[in-house]
Order: sequence, then C-alpha cells, then structure tokens
Amino acid sequence: YLAKESRTGVELYQQDKDRNSPERLNLLGDLRRAVDGGDLQLHYQPKVGLTSGVVHGVEGLLRWCHPVRGPIAPSEFIPLAEQSYLMRQITAYVIEMALEQAARWWHTGLRVQISVNISARDLLDSKLPEQLEVGLAKFRLPPMAIQLEVTERILMGDQAYTHETIKALAALGVPLALDDFGTGYSSLIRLQRLAVSEVKIDSSFVRRITESEDDDRIVRSIVDLVRSLGLRSVAEGVESDEAAIRLAEMGCDVGQGWLFGRPMPPAEATSWLRERFETTPQIELGYRPEVTQTA
Ligand code: C2E
Ligand code: MG
Ligand code: MG
Ligand code: MG
Repeated sequence: YLAKESRTGVELYQQDKDRNSPERLNLLGDLRRAVDGGDLQLHYQPKVGLTSGVVHGVEGLLRWCHPVRGPIAPSEFIPLAEQSYLMRQITAYVIEMALEQAARWWHTGLRVQISVNISARDLLDSKLPEQLEVGLAKFRLPPMAIQLEVTERILMGDQAYTHETIKALAALGVPLALDDFGTGYSSLIRLQRLAVSEVKIDSSFVRRITESEDDDRIVRSIVDLVRSLGLRSVAEGVESDEAAIRLAEMGCDVGQGWLFGRPMPPAEATSWLRERFETTPQIELGYRPEVTQTA
C-alpha cells in the first residue's frame, strides 16, 4: 500500500516536472509568439460524399512551422496550448481565419462549409457564440458556412456552462459535429439529446475496417445508429478505395481522408475545390440528400 502510494506521488511529481520542463515552457513561449506574429496557418481537408462525390465541406486543421524545429504536429502543440489561456486565443484566431477563407470562397461561388476544431475550454467561454455572430455578420455569411467540431468527451460532460454555450450556438444556427466518435466516452443514446448534426467516426476504427472484422462491425453499428438518429455520418481516415467502397455499402454518408485529399494550404485547397465544382455536380449547402429519412 505504502509502496503504491509513494509510486503515485513520484508519478505526480514527474508529471508536474514535465509540465513545467524548460522545453515545454520554451515551446509555449514560441507558440505565443507564433500566435501574435500570425505564424499559424489553417490547412483544409475535403469531406466528400461517398456515393455522390459531392463536397460536404472542408475541415480546417492548424499547422505550425517552428522557425528552428520545423513543422510541429497539432497533437504536440494543441495539448500544450490547452493547459494555458493561449487556447482561447488560438481558437479565436482559427475562427477568424476560417471565416475569412469562407468569405473568399462563398463570395466567388464556392459554397463550402468550413469545420473548425474547438477545445473544452472554448465551450466555457461565453464569448464564443458572440465572436461567431459578429464574424458571420462581418463577412456576410450564413451560420452554416461554419461548423464546430467538438470531441465526444467534451460534449458528454455535464457542466451547465458548457450547455449554455451549446444552446447559444444552436440558437445562432451554427452546426456542431461530434469528433472522434467511438473512442469510448459516450453513452450512445444521449446523442439524441445533443444539438449535433454530424458524427465523425474516429480514424482508429476506419483505417482497419478492411482488415479487422471487429472494426468493421464497430463502424457498421455506429453508422446504423447515427442514421437511425437522422444524423450525418462522416468516416475519418479513409485511405483506400477498398475502405471507401466498404463504407459506402454500410450506408456511411461522407468520407474524409488521404484518398480524397490531404489537408492543403489555402491556395491549393481553392484549386482542388474549383476543379471539383467544375467536374462533379454540386448541391446547395443545407440540402442533405444522402441522409436517409427514418420512419
Ligand atoms: P481531428 O480533428 O480528428 O482531425 C483529423 C486528423 O486526421 C488530422 O490530423 C488529419 O490530418 C488526419 N487525417 C486526415 N486524413 C487522414 C488519413 O487518411 N489517414 C490518417 N492516418 N490521418 C488522417 P492533424 O491535422 O494532425 O490534427 C490532429 C488533431 O489535432 C485533430 O484531430 C484535432 O483534434 C487537433 N487540431 C487540429 N487543428 C486544431 C485546431 O485548430 N484547434 C483545435 N482545438 N484542435 C486542432
Ligand atoms: Mg476534427
Ligand atoms: Mg477527428
Ligand atoms: Mg482525431
């Protein structure tokens, strides 16, 4: 018992030490400068209808090229930012970039919804809906021009203030997507009570559907559940034709992954979209023919 307790003590100490390690603090300082200096970029990855080829939108993914270390993955710097006030500043900046890009696209005939990822802390901030309302008006965009992706764990939390923010977003008409679904936090049936319009199935299941019967069954049952709730299912991490075909057979609505396109910098994303809009008939945003109505 004592040994166990003292081990926990050491682990906690270790964690604290890591959190305040010079490298982390340096990186946090660099990140702060990157935010202030506008050195963060949003790249855009398409979300494509699995049977129609229709572009359902793009996801904005943050990219940071460190002046010395080169590109740093969001999985490294987002958790770091999440431990400080910087996250709110980063999200505000991401939303501003996304709205600016959406305006460029929408006002030149590319009506594409941009999804941005938001963190737990962002939902605790009542200024988020306000920022979106002001930004949408400034760029003359409808609420559906943007979507917020929130992970399962955040949304399933029971905090009252989170609910207030979500209610305010719903009142504004800004859609919500549930990101990384299936990673184990959720009580599936509570999905129905949340103001979610899209469920994104985590890539850790999608990537193996053609090799693993278990993963095939998991994805299949998520797709069925999502459809029975009248929501749109999006598979993340679609890397092969084989996976896309399997997903389409399951009735999954939309795919996102390297098969369709990598996250691209703004100019490249614009060319990608232009070509798509010219070669594949597109539909008006807001119309969702691929969501099968349930009786
Ligand atoms: P996410 O929101 O689930 O984003 C999907 C991730 O899957 C992205 O990783 C994307 O590049 C990657 N991906 C896309 N297609 C494929 C594929 O076919 N195969 C594989 N193996 N991976 C694929 P990325 O860009 O490294 O971002 C990682 C995570 O960092 C995101 O996961 C999101 O949770 C977070 N993140 C990224 N940008 C932002 C941001 O602006 N704000 C916040 N709060 N989080 C962000
Ligand atoms: Mg996401
Ligand atoms: Mg995801
Ligand atoms: Mg993820």
